[in-house]
Amino acid sequence: MCGGSGSDFYFVFFFVIFLASLGERAELTAVGAALAAGASVFFLHGANVWDTGMWLRVPFFLVTALTYGYLTTNARQARSRAEAAEAVLALKTTFLATLSHEVRTPLNVIVGYTDMMREGLLGELVAAQRDALDKMSTHSFELLELVDRTLKASRLESGGMPVHLGEVHVDAVLEEVQLAVSRHCKADVDLSLRTQAGIPPVVTDRLKLKEIVANLVTNALKYTDKGAVTVDARWAPRDRCVEIMVRDTGLGIRPEERQAIFEPFTRAREADARCTPGVGLGLFIVGRLIELLRGELRVESEPGCGSTFTVRIPQRLEEVPNVA
Ligand code: ADP
Repeated sequence: MCGGSGSDFYFVFFFVIFLASLGERAELTAVGAALAAGASVFFLHGANVWDTGMWLRVPFFLVTALTYGYLTTNARQARSRAEAAEAVLALKTTFLATLSHEVRTPLNVIVGYTDMMREGLLGELVAAQRDALDKMSTHSFELLELVDRTLKASRLESGGMPVHLGEVHVDAVLEEVQLAVSRHCKADVDLSLRTQAGIPPVVTDRLKLKEIVANLVTNALKYTDKGAVTVDARWAPRDRCVEIMVRDTGLGIRPEERQAIFEPFTRAREADARCTPGVGLGLFIVGRLIELLRGELRVESEPGCGSTFTVRIPQRLEEVPNVA
């Protein structure tokens, strides 16, 4: 503004920024900038260099180069960290998907043949053989479930799960859930599923809704030794959504663990201590599926008394604004 800087000042200034954007290390850029500034003073104002304030340019450009160099190095490092993390995620997803497919096919064959033998299709069985086959069937089914969940979790994590909309009747979904969870029913636990009359059909993804409820009911049965598991579906007219409440009288969840159990491979301490089968993927999948259906999930629980998981699903998914 006071005319003290000539065009060579701006030339060196842009040269320094250019150096900083190219340079791998901020210190080298700073040295380059200081040399450029010194050279410009020496060659352009060579006659009276020692008594000129021009030398102030040297520290000025040194600091400028350090600042720009630091900023660009930081930005470059952040970008390469993000690229590395993306590559690891892609590799993990591919690995999980391949592994799950490779394990899934032979496991299905084992489950199929075990069932045929249990049903006596391959010859009569004595009691001990039937007992052994029952155990084989239970464990291979658990393994199959684990593989399926791993595969599903990796697909959900990579965002590769499409939503298929259709008109869904909640009472029909609950009937399917009852069938799907029958394997987990226990003699000392009453399971009842109730649907309020007059719930309008819902436009959503039927299989995903069924999976969400089936997962919650399976958990309720798994973590309840005695008492009841009740499922209540009702219509909430004010919010135009269907509310499905899964209540149990089981183990309960401590307040400090209520958030963490939605993380993949995370289980509450109690569940782990009791050696209940499971790996901690069910609620992670539930959470992601509810996100896809633009729903909500609420958990209330009293350790030792039971838990209530409440799912709310909008009546028409296509009318919900596309919230990130
Ligand atoms: P998994 O049941 O395979 O361990 P989930 O992701 O379904 O995995 O559940 C995570 C954890 O949340 C469980 O290990 C258990 O500790 C806890 N949990 C889930 N549902 C219930 C429930 N109804 N009652 C008590 N604890 C539960």
